[in-house]
Amino acid sequence: MQTLFDSLKFEQNLHKDEVTRLEVYANGHLFKLFDSPVDKTLLKRIAIGTGVGVSEADLEVCDTFKDRLVRMTTLANERNCLLYVDAEQSYIQDAIASWGQQLTHQFNRGEKHIILNGYQCYLKRTTEAIKMEVAASKVLGYNIGIKLIRGAYMNEERKLAQEHGYESPIWDTLEHTHRCYNDSMLHILDNLTEDSMLLIASHNMDSVQLAKNKMLEVGIADSRVRFAQLKAFSDHITSQLALENFQVYKYLPYGPMEEVMPYLIRRGQESKQVVREQTFQNVFLKNEIKRRMNLFSKA
Ligand SMILES: Cc1cc2nc3c(=O)[nH]c(=O)nc-3n(C[C@H](O)[C@H](O)[C@H](O)COP(=O)(O)OP(=O)(O)OC[C@H]3O[C@@H](n4cnc5c(N)ncnc54)[C@H](O)[C@@H]3O)c2cc1C
Repeated sequence: MQTLFDSLKFEQNLHKDEVTRLEVYANGHLFKLFDSPVDKTLLKRIAIGTGVGVSEADLEVCDTFKDRLVRMTTLANERNCLLYVDAEQSYIQDAIASWGQQLTHQFNRGEKHIILNGYQCYLKRTTEAIKMEVAASKVLGYNIGIKLIRGAYMNEERKLAQEHGYESPIWDTLEHTHRCYNDSMLHILDNLTEDSMLLIASHNMDSVQLAKNKMLEVGIADSRVRFAQLKAFSDHITSQLALENFQVYKYLPYGPMEEVMPYLIRRGQESKQVVREQTFQNVFLKNEIKRRMNLFSKA
């Protein structure tokens, strides 16, 4: 146990016998991807203590997954490809975040940002997590890689919390989520170093406008900040960003019907907000078609 706690300590910790919250946030990984993996017997004992069954077969699957993850990221690093890590439901997100974070510490070094981890701002804990991430990157000297999102599993999270009688991890109101998103975004932009990267994955016009204003204010006009919207969502935002020379992506999900349908259903649930913007979008699209026809007729 002592070795575990020692490994959590940052060099800069002035309170040598205390493990700070930041240290636990940045280094407290139960399942290590790289050096000194935790003894599997400890994992098994935790499983017994918490009543969650983990079999030998589970641990083997975990090991295989870990190897693939490291191999894949090593290859991406050699080829200088970015890997965007999706954020999922909170009951598996801790594991995803832990592994994503360890990959970040390893590969987002020097001039590179290979890993961009997803942070869901509908979660109450994200306000604190973003501050921790920014602070940890400074202490450990790695480059931030963040995909900032609001989150896509709100209904499921609330239902599970109600069924199992724990506090919902989701903010009580949409306004809280908006505040968490916008404040986190501004905090990241204020602290964005030369080699870090932020992906603003959102259809929210207010957040996008806020980001653009902040980028002008702090003088970021390069590819360190990128925007992304889903295909067929908020095309007016995407086009406007492109016209203004911001880096912007259109995200195109594809795959077998049975895998893509649940994804599209969740997008449909979220799209109420997008539908409200539809009238505006229709006017925008009409004007855009006219603009392109004019270009064509002039050629
Ligand atoms: C490129 C890209 C990648 C994405 N990757 C992921 C991913 O990895 N993981 C993931 O979970 N999602 C992902 N998403 C989806 C994303 O999290 C959002 O679900 C979606 O983009 C809608 O949020 P918005 O920022 O566009 O905001 P808006 O258009 O403002 O939508 C806000 C919506 O948030 C919901 N909402 C959030 N919090 C609350 C609350 N407290 N009370 C009530 N309603 C609330 C409501 O349904 C509301 O309509 C991604 C989206 C994009 C564009």
